[in-house]
Amino acid sequence: MCTLGHIATTKQLAREGISAFRIARAIEAGRIRRLRRGVYGCTHVSRLMARAASVGGALTCVSILREAGVWAGNSRTLHIQLPPGTAKPSAPDITAHWESPRFPMKSKWRAGRLQSIWRAIHCLDDENAIATLESALHLGFLSSSEAERIAVHAPRRLRPGIDNLETNSGSGNETIVHRRLQAAGYSTTAQAHVPGMGHEDLLIEQCVGLDVDGREWHGEDRYEIDHARDLHVEGLGRHVLRISTSQIHVTWPSTLAVIERVVNDAIRERDRRRGRIVVRFDDPL
Ligand SMILES: [Zn+2]
Ligand SMILES: [Zn+2]
Repeated sequence: MCTLGHIATTKQLAREGISAFRIARAIEAGRIRRLRRGVYGCTHVSRLMARAASVGGALTCVSILREAGVWAGNSRTLHIQLPPGTAKPSAPDITAHWESPRFPMKSKWRAGRLQSIWRAIHCLDDENAIATLESALHLGFLSSSEAERIAVHAPRRLRPGIDNLETNSGSGNETIVHRRLQAAGYSTTAQAHVPGMGHEDLLIEQCVGLDVDGREWHGEDRYEIDHARDLHVEGLGRHVLRISTSQIHVTWPSTLAVIERVVNDAIRERDRRRGRIVVRFDDPL
């Protein structure tokens, strides 16, 4: 079963000399389970893959990326690939893509890496599609030469974003905020180094640090580290803002308004300090 890609049909198993009786015994012993009529999976089959197979589809698109920890936007439905012309499964939590794959499949029941990325950047909106590409590059899910191959087949609307892909973005939210701030006219540095304390997610106009929360690994330990760093950064004369996932995706206009005010104040403060130094320096007395 495992050599057949962890999911196999009765026909495939018969070809391997496995009888219906042996299948029944394996099910009884809990070594395999029936996913749908004539389709069985071993214990290595993930929950999402089992669900896709149970409706006759292959797992693809953002569902594969989510399993791999790659940024996959905010859709919570299961994305499956179905052969063209087949009926849509009636379940409301399924997004179906009817297509013949453009890139290799890992098995009949699971799209390969490139196919999943290609499908996802067509499925997601522009900013999430770019965030997915940056996340995949950052995590090594995609090499830069593979990203170039995908880019050739990317929708035209993504071209400007693809021309400026960065590989050091810590999360999809970070990519999205970074690009929105650049579009608003701010100069931003991703993963800016703070002496003695590692990195800030974004540094705006070299004076305001922005930490983008909502990443899955932000647990309690992370809270202590983040707050210690905030204090340290303030001590260096920089301001730090910390924003949540909903402040990015639900209330962005008011979030941006606050960022703009803090950045403008910080720039004014910085210029005022510089002004003082210049006056003292130039003073002949
Ligand atoms: Zn297996
Ligand atoms: Zn999709």
